[in-house]
Amino acid sequence: MSLPANLQSRSAGKCELCSAETSLEAFALPYSDGQAANEVALCSTCTEQVTKSEDFDVNHLRCLNDSMWSTVPAVQVLAARMLNRLNAETWAQDLKDMLYLDEELQAWVDQEPAEEDMIKHVDSNGAVLSAGDNVVIIKDLNVKGTSFVAKRGTPVRNISLTNNPEHIEGRVNGTRIVIITQFVKKS
Ligand SMILES: [Zn+2]
Repeated sequence: MSLPANLQSRSAGKCELCSAETSLEAFALPYSDGQAANEVALCSTCTEQVTKSEDFDVNHLRCLNDSMWSTVPAVQVLAARMLNRLNAETWAQDLKDMLYLDEELQAWVDQEPAEEDMIKHVDSNGAVLSAGDNVVIIKDLNVKGTSFVAKRGTPVRNISLTNNPEHIEGRVNGTRIVIITQFVKKS
């Protein structure tokens, strides 16, 4: 996975929320104001955090303390939305109170998708998948970019979610691969 060139140069190869330099991916904000670029470079931990609506890794999200001041509108909007979701955390509410956004950006923040629009990953049976789950592959899969086949019945432990609801990632034969959710079953 690599970032599109424009994001790579804007982010300087760092997660735009927490500055991690590994496993960066472009994350598209579910709603945009229609003008500003709406993609943000995120590490896998932050991608996981911004695609859920509860059970946040509160310590990791302390990074919002810095990223909410980003000069990139999409990053600021995403940070503000995350602060909104952390409404049980006093520190997050304090940060939110400090953050001043102009009207246009505030309107963008307020387009926060309803929970039912959040990205949901479901397996072949419709069971909701979460990061860290174990799954089993239910069909022989040719793995793109490698010469091996991920065999039916192969367990994949500790999966991670991507911002595509049809894709998860996990390690098979020691290689991290993208797996289509309809070909796995939660175990
Ligand atoms: Zn991050």
